[in-house]
Amino acid sequence: MGGMGPVVVVGGGISGVACARTLADAGVDVELLDRGHRLGGRMAARSVQGRVVDTGASYFTVGDHAFAAVVEDWATRGLARPWTDTFEVVEDGRWAGPKQGADRWSAPGGLRSLVEDLARGLQVRRHTVGSVVPAGPGLAGARLLVDDRPVAAVVLAMPDPQARRLLDPALEAAREALDDPFAPVLALSAGWERRHWAPDLHGAFVNGDDVLTWVADDGSRRGDGSAVLVAHSGAAFAGRHLQAPEAAEEPMTQALMRVMGIAHPPAWTHLHRWTFAHPAGTRERTHHLDDDGVGLCGDGWSARPRVEGAYLSGVALGSALVSRLAG
Ligand SMILES: Cc1cc2nc3c(=O)[nH]c(=O)nc-3n(C[C@H](O)[C@H](O)[C@H](O)COP(=O)(O)OP(=O)(O)OC[C@H]3O[C@@H](n4cnc5c(N)ncnc54)[C@H](O)[C@@H]3O)c2cc1C
Repeated sequence: MGGMGPVVVVGGGISGVACARTLADAGVDVELLDRGHRLGGRMAARSVQGRVVDTGASYFTVGDHAFAAVVEDWATRGLARPWTDTFEVVEDGRWAGPKQGADRWSAPGGLRSLVEDLARGLQVRRHTVGSVVPAGPGLAGARLLVDDRPVAAVVLAMPDPQARRLLDPALEAAREALDDPFAPVLALSAGWERRHWAPDLHGAFVNGDDVLTWVADDGSRRGDGSAVLVAHSGAAFAGRHLQAPEAAEEPMTQALMRVMGIAHPPAWTHLHRWTFAHPAGTRERTHHLDDDGVGLCGDGWSARPRVEGAYLSGVALGSALVSRLAG
């Protein structure tokens, strides 16, 4: 497919970066586009008062051996660290005790720093893609136009609703594959002068609450002991506040203080809206690649739609594209 233009990967979350990395490592001409100031997507981190807070994904787990090798490399270089295997459970307002599970990993520099590390050396450009259309005849064999630019193939590495709106109606196979609506979450970060909760808390699953589903101790996660919590809302609460999320800040702060038993209001808060936080469903297929040259990957293309699933989806699509381009 030489001469047909590069492969363009749209989306600089972990799936898009993993896909672009796989293509670049195989010698394919690939460019990664993302609309954000920084890469990372939902592995988001924000600097508040000179300190990084994870405002998207809370942690990641490791199961697959290929992902384990990547994580081991991050750990060796001090970029990732095992955080904990134990969180508390709050059941209908009652602290029901700790629950042990898989090892959860965090990143001292925020989860975003891991995506940025994976992207090192790739051709990356900040750009908001508006359309993907069939190229038509007479464009040196290019199959698609991404914002009027001829490309050999395009990868859309993002939630289904975001990918679907970029695709021309003629690109039916990909449009039909993108049928998962994704659910919203609001994330409230809050900081205090000092910790008002148990010193050994890492995080708490909150069940049966109208507002919150999860609270992470960001000081524990980051390893600096700062008095910072990040609370995630349920999808129903987020759905009611998507148009005016600022109105959710006060009820979420009150819910966080109530769940945690904190009498003192926080010194600062910050609210982030994730309109497309989690796929509503799961898929057994790891990716989509069709004859029009459209590839789809991301956490929606996984039986376990999390950070690891997104990474593996990106690698799977990258490998499939390498085979396609070589064939
Ligand atoms: C609140 C929250 C909590 C979570 N908690 C966890 C957790 O604890 N553990 C876990 O494993 N996972 C968690 N996840 C899920 C995890 O974050 C995702 O599975 C993973 O980050 C998805 O990566 P991705 O590459 O598929 O998509 P994304 O990270 O969403 O990347 C998509 C990228 O596409 C870009 N983009 C979109 N449209 C365009 C366009 N038109 N032009 C250019 N660029 C565009 C966006 O800027 C973005 O960077 C959580 C997610 C959220 C939101």
